[in-house]
Amino acid sequence: MTVKAYGAHAGDQPLQPLDITRRAPGVHDVQIAIACCGVCHSDIHQVRSEWAGTLYPCVPGHEIVGRVTAVGAHVSKHKIGDLVGVGCIVDSCQHCADCNEGLENYCAQMVGTYNGSTPDAPGHTLGGYSQQIVVHERYVLRICHPEAQLAAVAPLLCAGITTYSPLRHWKVGKGHKVGVVGIGGLGHMGIKLANAMGAHVVAFTTSPSKREAAKALGAHEVVVSRNADEMAAHAKSLDFILDTVAAPHDLDAFFALLKRDGTMTLVGAPASPHPSPEVFSLIMKRRSLAGSMIGGIPETQEMLDFCAEHGIVADVEMIRAGQINDAYERMLKGDVKYRFVIDCASLAA
Ligand code: NAP
Ligand code: ZN
Repeated sequence: MTVKAYGAHAGDQPLQPLDITRRAPGVHDVQIAIACCGVCHSDIHQVRSEWAGTLYPCVPGHEIVGRVTAVGAHVSKHKIGDLVGVGCIVDSCQHCADCNEGLENYCAQMVGTYNGSTPDAPGHTLGGYSQQIVVHERYVLRICHPEAQLAAVAPLLCAGITTYSPLRHWKVGKGHKVGVVGIGGLGHMGIKLANAMGAHVVAFTTSPSKREAAKALGAHEVVVSRNADEMAAHAKSLDFILDTVAAPHDLDAFFALLKRDGTMTLVGAPASPHPSPEVFSLIMKRRSLAGSMIGGIPETQEMLDFCAEHGIVADVEMIRAGQINDAYERMLKGDVKYRFVIDCASLAA
């Protein structure tokens, strides 16, 4: 089936309307009419070829929500009419140790929602800036939030799980002082989730204008990271830091804020390396540096259910598909509170 989408033909070209083909649903597939798709900074990195290996045409989008319109004969998890989501993963080998543990995100054959390998035309996956998608049922998530919140649920499919998974893995909770660095799409979810898990949350921002807004998101304290005195006030006091920043920056300034045995986990994925760490900033206090990539399917469902139970959604600004190039420019300036979401009905116009 041919559907309308938005994508780019090259890294130095703006996104534009495209017609793309979706496969007919196979026996294990779910066909979804996409209502909305969140705009992740990874979409910018990928479509502009800032990371290696972008395949064109590139249709980004991995924060997908919508309604099931058809299911294959062997589908048991979802039925026509259900509200569902699709995140960053649309396939994996389904039998390796990672898949068996529900950590499909670390499967060597994980297929991303866009730029992944697929037998479908044009040979690589095309993402959620489109009217419809067809996905194996294993990778389709159940949405329990009210339908009226659907647009604000979309960012949970990437920004939500990418921050939830490391907070859970490093057992963040009551009694912990946790730093969230960068208050963008991921960071604002990190603040909300760490707060809901019971931690004392300190938000670190380069944007003084976000100070009050970060408190409204659930940060107990806000630090403007370019202010050395504000940073020094938190020296050696944090148990855990989640760094969501989309650009290279000095990590040592943040290691200095970790207690002995504290961990800093990177989720931000800049196109070029950070200038640090200096090893002494790690070894002097047995500090750890770690990374984390999205989350597996069972944990993504757990996160969606946790958010529904705690009334957590993203703070979003709705756009039409034709506004996407301007939205990217605004994101690069940090000018979004806190996630753009495309109204995919606008693709029909
Ligand atoms: P975003 O909405 O654009 O937010 C990034 C934030 O980083 C900005 O709002 C800004 O916050 C801060 N920042 C500071 N200096 C910056 C600079 N020079 N350029 C850009 N941002 C700067 O991005 P996002 O969607 O949250 O994604 C953040 C990063 O995570 C991206 O690199 C993305 O590719 C990556 N990511 C990784 C995973 C994973 O699985 N690990 C998943 C999704 C996304 P302040 O104004 O508060 O300083
Ligand atoms: Zn993403």
